[in-house]
Amino acid sequence: MDYEAIFAERLAAVHAEGRYRVFAHLARQVGRYPVAAAHGPDGVRDVVIWCGNDYLAMGQHPVVLDAMHAALDRHGAGAGGTRNISGTSHPVVLLEAELADLHGKEAALVFSSGYVANDTSLCTLATILPGCVVFSDEKNHASMIQGIRNARCERRIFRHNDAADLDRLLSAADPAAPKLVAFESVYSMDGDIAPIADLCDVAERHGAMTYLDEVHAVGLYGPRGGGVAEARGLLDRLTVINGTLAKGFGVVGGYIAASATIIDLVRSYAPGFIFTTAIPPATAAGALASVRHLKTSGVERAAMQERSATLKRRLTHAGLPVMPSESHIVPLLVGDPVRCKAITDTLMDEFGLYVQPINYPTVPRGTERLRLTPGPMHTDAMMDDLEAALTTIWRRLEMPLAA
Ligand SMILES: *Cc1c(COP(=O)(O)O)cnc(C)c1O
Repeated sequence: MDYEAIFAERLAAVHAEGRYRVFAHLARQVGRYPVAAAHGPDGVRDVVIWCGNDYLAMGQHPVVLDAMHAALDRHGAGAGGTRNISGTSHPVVLLEAELADLHGKEAALVFSSGYVANDTSLCTLATILPGCVVFSDEKNHASMIQGIRNARCERRIFRHNDAADLDRLLSAADPAAPKLVAFESVYSMDGDIAPIADLCDVAERHGAMTYLDEVHAVGLYGPRGGGVAEARGLLDRLTVINGTLAKGFGVVGGYIAASATIIDLVRSYAPGFIFTTAIPPATAAGALASVRHLKTSGVERAAMQERSATLKRRLTHAGLPVMPSESHIVPLLVGDPVRCKAITDTLMDEFGLYVQPINYPTVPRGTERLRLTPGPMHTDAMMDDLEAALTTIWRRLEMPLAA
């Protein structure tokens, strides 16, 4: 059996579809956000990053870096083992208390990543409840889909952000079965936001638990950065809230916040929590500093939202196909993977602007796009450059610009 040939064939298929992924080789530089050094065949040069998820530049905020340096010097590099075997480091204890408070919940539990938090928490909850039926938004992130699949329970997919469709599916289910409704607040590829109150109303009417992924909202929305549920005064309507420490908070790691019993349950049963080494103390200390900072400082959130609104307005005015987005995300529709890649290659090679093409399977085929994420430090001059580069490329490729 020629295993290598089988693998190479599958890679050739990705190439043939024009969606082979090439990662930019970058060195981000403290103090120069959103500029990074890009390593290419012709050497190293500066590029402006337009597609980062370190939305608020917390990844290089002095408060975060100081906390990490101090914790590294005090506690060393690694956690020393899984929490079951080696205990919990002090910064993780403080971090979990801070996260529980952020979301108005009794407790929180930290995981290696937001992906792992979703995967292992959803799987554990749905496995523990006998005959559980999970209701999942059709645009849910891969980490939630994977967790639900792994639970091998019954699952129903409701139409995106459609409370009436969820109601229909819940009505058709066995009234006696345990039920869990899983969805996101900000959908990061379209930038739309879930009707959280409506979905909670429906779930509550049918006695279902709710699980909300606030990964693209924590740090960014709400008076204390608690996400969209906090902004809308809905924290107590959600059974479980999931978040990441990697995007708005700028470090790495993921978590859930919920009742003390649910957190204790997941802590006691979830393989993705139990059998893996805890995040390093310095990572936890950095995340803790970031969460605490954004609880009281609204400056970063306000600046990011202003930059996002400005970019949307400018690109729309320039006739570019800005997709409707209620959030800070600025998606530009291209609709073809080869063209999408050609555009981003040109942006990088010719204009020094880094935008990653978003292709299938991240988004449905035919909706390939550029996804722009302006942060607090993207200047008007940077926007001038981006707008000029995009309109130049659109004209060159004879793609339509709105009048
Ligand atoms: C990025 C992402 C995750 C995973 O979070 P990580 O901390 O990066 O693993 C989960 N859910 C959604 C919606 C995401 O976009």
